[in-house]
Amino acid sequence: MKKTSLIIAGPCAAESELQINQSIAQAERRGVDFLRASLWKPRTKPGFEGLGETGLPLLAKIAQRGLNPATEVLTPEHAEKVIDTVLSVSKNGKVLIWIGARNQNHFLQQEIAKVAHKNSRVVLMVKNQPWPSLEHWEGIIEHILSTGFPKERLLLCHRGFAPFGDNPLGLRNIPDFEMAMDIKQKSGLRMLFDPSHIGGSVEKVLAVAYLSMQYDFDGMITEVHPDPQAAQTDAKQQLTWEQFDSVLRHLHITSGNSAPIHV
Ligand code: PEP
Ligand code: MN
Repeated sequence: MKKTSLIIAGPCAAESELQINQSIAQAERRGVDFLRASLWKPRTKPGFEGLGETGLPLLAKIAQRGLNPATEVLTPEHAEKVIDTVLSVSKNGKVLIWIGARNQNHFLQQEIAKVAHKNSRVVLMVKNQPWPSLEHWEGIIEHILSTGFPKERLLLCHRGFAPFGDNPLGLRNIPDFEMAMDIKQKSGLRMLFDPSHIGGSVEKVLAVAYLSMQYDFDGMITEVHPDPQAAQTDAKQQLTWEQFDSVLRHLHITSGNSAPIHV
């Protein structure tokens, strides 16, 4: 992990005005590049699937406070609504939208990229697919770039692969650091790391985050919640802001007073 890493942190899902206000206050102090607060939450089993469009005012609130929000989107319509909402209330701010691991419809990926392409204040992040395949991962990137999407606004993210066989560490998803570095090198794109969805529990999130030090990742997306135990999704793996601080310290990443990282 580089010292000047791109930092995305915040709750797995946007849940309420109180939770977002608390997250804004904590993120402000640390100067994160993007405040994570996902409006859509595709789940393995049915449950709280995110606030969806009703949460758009919460993203607007983040932008009005001068922070850059980040959310998953599942369709080009989601992308349009998020971008319109956020950029209309912020003069120079940015918005990050990402395509999650479960969204492996290349047509939808391309349509989302086309929407994101239209405004230079939009950053697009793409996570790897759930199953281990270098070819498929490369295919996602090729599909997106084939729309003409600019490389400097595209981020990749390694969130591990679903465990099928041995999983001695009991991780939620198994990282393949070498594959991630191979993709980074071949594509010339920035590669972020998601310790939250690899670790699956606070203790393992911390351990996995420290492991990433040995690799040349360009940043990190981490789930951090003002009250992790009360979280409506992924309660087990969300860090407190104090735990997040210790990760940054351990990785020697400076945030807060550091110069903003331009994407
Ligand atoms: C997420 O980031 O909230 C998420 C669901 O991750 P993934 O798409 O990697 O499973
Ligand atoms: Mn999550």
